[in-house]
Amino acid sequence: MKGFRQMENKQSKDSSKLNKDELIVITGAGGFIAGALTRYFHDRGFARIRAIDKKPLPDWYQRVPGVESLPMDLSEEENAIRAVEGAVEVYNLAADMGGMGFIERFRVECLRSILINTHMIEAAYRAGVGRYFFSSSACAYNTLLQQDPNVRALKESDAYPAMAERGYGWEKLMSEMFCQEYWAEKGLETHIARFHNVYGPIGTWYGGREKAPAALCRKVIEANDTGKHEIEIWGDGSQTRSFMYIDDCVQGIDKIMHCDSLVATPINLGSSELVSINELVSLVEEIAGVKLERKYDLSAPRGVAGRNSDNTFIKQVLNWEPNTPLREGLAKTYAWIEQQYADRKAGKRTVTDHI
Ligand code: NAD
Repeated sequence: MKGFRQMENKQSKDSSKLNKDELIVITGAGGFIAGALTRYFHDRGFARIRAIDKKPLPDWYQRVPGVESLPMDLSEEENAIRAVEGAVEVYNLAADMGGMGFIERFRVECLRSILINTHMIEAAYRAGVGRYFFSSSACAYNTLLQQDPNVRALKESDAYPAMAERGYGWEKLMSEMFCQEYWAEKGLETHIARFHNVYGPIGTWYGGREKAPAALCRKVIEANDTGKHEIEIWGDGSQTRSFMYIDDCVQGIDKIMHCDSLVATPINLGSSELVSINELVSLVEEIAGVKLERKYDLSAPRGVAGRNSDNTFIKQVLNWEPNTPLREGLAKTYAWIEQQYADRKAGKRTVTDHI
């Protein structure tokens, strides 16, 4: 395959030995994770990065200097073809997504993201791309295994027999299968990570697509600001999850993409530090230095009862796992959202204003 592969040190388990003048393409780059990934590769010296998102440029969460930034809708075939032109690596993270409130309500939008991967992977194959990354999700796992808050952590084989999260999870599972079959039938090298809840600064924090950590930080900040010392929690707060800090996520993507034993092999990328939503609220309260009265909205979307990442496989192949303590990542996230909140109140533009 391509010169890119030949220049690579086979021992390398991340991008450090790659030729930094080759073009890499990152989709969904106007959003949270792909925005951080663009910044990560830029900071590691990659000189040619093409970042793509369907949002108009002023609405991107971050714009990285020196990066070719293109607003394009990748569910259109001709845009996908244009997107991958000349690329040696493609990181496809574009998807219509959000927290539980969004994915339970907008299943059609979630399912339609299949168009993005379908066009992107075919375009990448035709363009002779060296490696293709797909961001899957823990929502691809069988929901029947997640009906108890004291869950057994999910291991990679638990996706089948399939009973994924309706809409969003099935789209991820189907797109994973595209990645596996493009490798098996056509020889396109694909890498697939199943992300478990990612959180951190420069992500969605209000507007309806935000996830639990950002939403709870915002609610605590709001309660502090208004003096109304109560917090609304979706469900009864007993649901359990693990949360991965953004820095671990981008580092994990790099490692997974450049691991030769992870071709067409879905792998968990998540923290294994399990907490209940009630415990998450307590952590945020501790960071903020307040104690709030809890009101539980039992009719709100709550997702599965429990979900955790079994990291046996990632530790075995990469000798690494996401390891930022939740308390530490949450403190950074809280500080960032507090600033966004203050900026918004002062009439300044904040990252999710367009939503
Ligand atoms: P995000 O919403 O912040 O970013 C996704 C970006 O994709 C958005 O900016 C959106 O505008 C863009 N996009 C949507 N449709 C597009 C299209 N047709 N063409 C071009 N761009 C389009 O979400 P995120 O949290 O950064 O998620 C990135 C990826 O990781 C997604 O594939 C998501 O499903 C996956 N994932 C995220 C989490 C998480 O906890 N955040 C968990 C599991 C999986």
